[in-house]
Amino acid sequence: MARAKRWNLLNTLFLTGTLILAMVLVPWRLATSGLRWSEALVFVGMTFAIGTAISGGYHRLFSHRAYKASWPVRFLFLCVGAAAFENSALKWASDHRVHHQHVDTDQDPYTIGRGFWFAHWTWVMEEKALPLAGVADLEKDPLVRWQHRNHFLIGAVVALIPLWIGLATGNVLGQLIFGLALRIVATHHSTFLINSAAHMFGSRPYTDTNTARDNWLLAPLTYGEGYHNFHHQWQWDYRNGALWYQWDTTKWLLNTLRWLGLVGQFRRVSAAAMTRARLLMEEKRLRERLALASPGAASPMQARLAAARVKLDTALASLHERHEVWGQKKAEWRAKGMAKAEAWREAKAEWEASMAQHRADLKMAWAEWKAARLEVRSSLVYS
Ligand SMILES: [Zn+2]
Ligand SMILES: [Zn+2]
Repeated sequence: MARAKRWNLLNTLFLTGTLILAMVLVPWRLATSGLRWSEALVFVGMTFAIGTAISGGYHRLFSHRAYKASWPVRFLFLCVGAAAFENSALKWASDHRVHHQHVDTDQDPYTIGRGFWFAHWTWVMEEKALPLAGVADLEKDPLVRWQHRNHFLIGAVVALIPLWIGLATGNVLGQLIFGLALRIVATHHSTFLINSAAHMFGSRPYTDTNTARDNWLLAPLTYGEGYHNFHHQWQWDYRNGALWYQWDTTKWLLNTLRWLGLVGQFRRVSAAAMTRARLLMEEKRLRERLALASPGAASPMQARLAAARVKLDTALASLHERHEVWGQKKAEWRAKGMAKAEAWREAKAEWEASMAQHRADLKMAWAEWKAARLEVRSSLVYS
């Protein structure tokens, strides 16, 4: 039996109303008055600030506790984030934690299982009584509680900044059309794209146990949130685009704030763990393709591939562990003020010598993996 839908009138009117308004007013304004630099600047500034407050604040800080932030940063993210008109940080985090916990199931509030548009925005329009859950940690923060009680008012004050700018520059209508109407639509849909497009289009380099995808094209539109496969695998990591060349403006901003001493205790997965997850997926895919090419036959190539991957995995893990242990030891020596002692120099030389063997093992394991992979790939091409 089809489930009876009830619509949340306020949400439905707000989401569709702002979209229609922007779709009518923006072309009209462009045709009649063109676009002024000040309008473009305010639009980009507001969109970027509010989107970043959602990504860096609502998402990575409050929903995932990926780092710790001083109160001025929390206050700013809460105030600016409210202007996204995506509910309070507390409610947003509550829904989002359920999304991660029950991803792709009926309990996922924006499951992609019900289609692109449901995950994108009709879930917001449906009347659902999803209670606050699993956010007791956030409720301890008086700033979060204050924003939860007043988010609409706070959001309105911030969202109306273009009005004040318009009044000061004698261009109220232009600033409201671009800086308010179009900006609200842009903010909404950039967030929504993560729940829809980033669960449908893109690659799955780290895990295929859920629908989340890495999509580089979405990253600039979502302040770095496009690497959603990575994010679902390590949701507590302060980065979404974890590799240095991946576009993640939120990560770069957070790094800057850390440099200024305003945030800290960043949580991040090791490069070794990322590589190991990638290798596992790569091996799995190649084995699947091999099985398809010669069904029923347990090919010696599959065994070779698996063995090479396990060897490389072990080498990566042990090298990483040694680095960790050494890092701890180094910190202990420093704490004791012995970082320059003779004994320290000896220990360091010993460690470096032992590392040479580990590095050589790793190099060999990489070579074996690459050779096995090449053999599989060429056999698949010629099969
Ligand atoms: Zn997701
Ligand atoms: Zn998340």
